[in-house]
Amino acid sequence: MIVVGGGAIGLNVALELASRGCEVQLLDRGTIGDSASRVAAGILPPANLQSATDPIDQLRGLSHGLFPSLAERLANLSSIDIGLRRCGGYYLGTTPGEIAVMTGMVQYWENLNIQCERVSIDHLRKREPRICPWFAKQSDSNDTAAWWVPDEYQIRTPDYLRALQIACQKTGVAIGEHTAVDRLRTTKTGAAVSCENRWFEADRVVLCGGSWSGLLSPELRLERSLIPIRGQILVLKTDHPLLRSIVNVGNRYVLCRDDGHTIIGSCEEETGFVCETTDGMIDALHRFAVGMLPELESAMVVERCAGLRPLTFDGFPMIGKVPDISNVYIAAGHYRSGIHLSPATAVCLADVMMGQTPQVDLEPFRVGKQQFAS
Ligand SMILES: Cc1cc2nc3c(=O)[nH]c(=O)nc-3n(C[C@H](O)[C@H](O)[C@H](O)COP(=O)(O)OP(=O)(O)OC[C@H]3O[C@@H](n4cnc5c(N)ncnc54)[C@H](O)[C@@H]3O)c2cc1C
Repeated sequence: MIVVGGGAIGLNVALELASRGCEVQLLDRGTIGDSASRVAAGILPPANLQSATDPIDQLRGLSHGLFPSLAERLANLSSIDIGLRRCGGYYLGTTPGEIAVMTGMVQYWENLNIQCERVSIDHLRKREPRICPWFAKQSDSNDTAAWWVPDEYQIRTPDYLRALQIACQKTGVAIGEHTAVDRLRTTKTGAAVSCENRWFEADRVVLCGGSWSGLLSPELRLERSLIPIRGQILVLKTDHPLLRSIVNVGNRYVLCRDDGHTIIGSCEEETGFVCETTDGMIDALHRFAVGMLPELESAMVVERCAGLRPLTFDGFPMIGKVPDISNVYIAAGHYRSGIHLSPATAVCLADVMMGQTPQVDLEPFRVGKQQFAS
């Protein structure tokens, strides 16, 4: 089988198929794991498979449950610890709009039996003393509310991708980097993709090209199904981590890894396929983080980066067989949750490809239903 695209989705799909005994070749036009997946903060918000009714929440719940065993397996195969940690998350609303959104979210989590508790300023102050000055200032306005969500996890995304790559290699996946797929065709016995007129054939092809998946071939008729939404991240470094938990404020967040790296994100920008950082946004993220944690003022800037999240119009990723084209499958469009959803996507897609019934019904993720009207 051929998997096109070596982000979190393609790597997981390749590993899952190889683990089930398939011969797998993974092709990427650049270096493995160097696209949107590398930029991702690595936040795994709470989820509960047992109580989830929404299809995305079911996929999220399945992934949530798979992560601990996947982390262990990756550590065994690659000797890399991906930093999976149940660090918990604080969710703050600092404006009436943010509080309203969080109130709805909290109600939704309660329906799913996901633990979420409204907490006082004192609670937050005790647990995260370094954010006090910022928080005290905000609370003066009486417009701030905070919730504590213990079942939020973090992983170190670059380590996750490296571990997946090594695990793939150890499981027999042949990896071809700098191989940009530019055509696709079906053959008598399967399907084939080409890179500058060099054809790669297999019994089946799985397309995992992230935001670019719809552009892989006009035959797919998916050009208008995926919209790239840019997100930017700032990475700072301090001697010690300044927070124990992830702090989410509206659509921004600060996350500290154990090694002192602080990840600050993010934003949602429609810039087509332009994937660069901008001074204005990086400055805004820096101001936001320093406002919360004044010690970050003097922290070293390690990296500023941007990635394109693949968005579909109904918010559901497409996972399954491409209609009307034999032996071609796709897994793309995971938007803000591609890291979190990657293990369950791979397991369910592999089930479908092997003729088994997946644990989560993939009908809501049917390929083609995400087509935009022209
Ligand atoms: C700022 C930011 C923060 C995020 N934070 C989180 C988070 O905390 N948690 C979470 O779950 N998600 C997060 N995400 C979302 C997550 O990063 C994406 O959903 C996920 O990376 C999508 O993975 P993917 O494998 O589909 O795509 P990508 O990672 O983009 O990989 C696609 C791959 O396909 C390759 N490719 C494309 N076209 C071709 C071609 N023609 N031939 C060969 N190869 C090709 C590319 O080179 C690339 O390697 C974040 C995203 C951003 C931008």
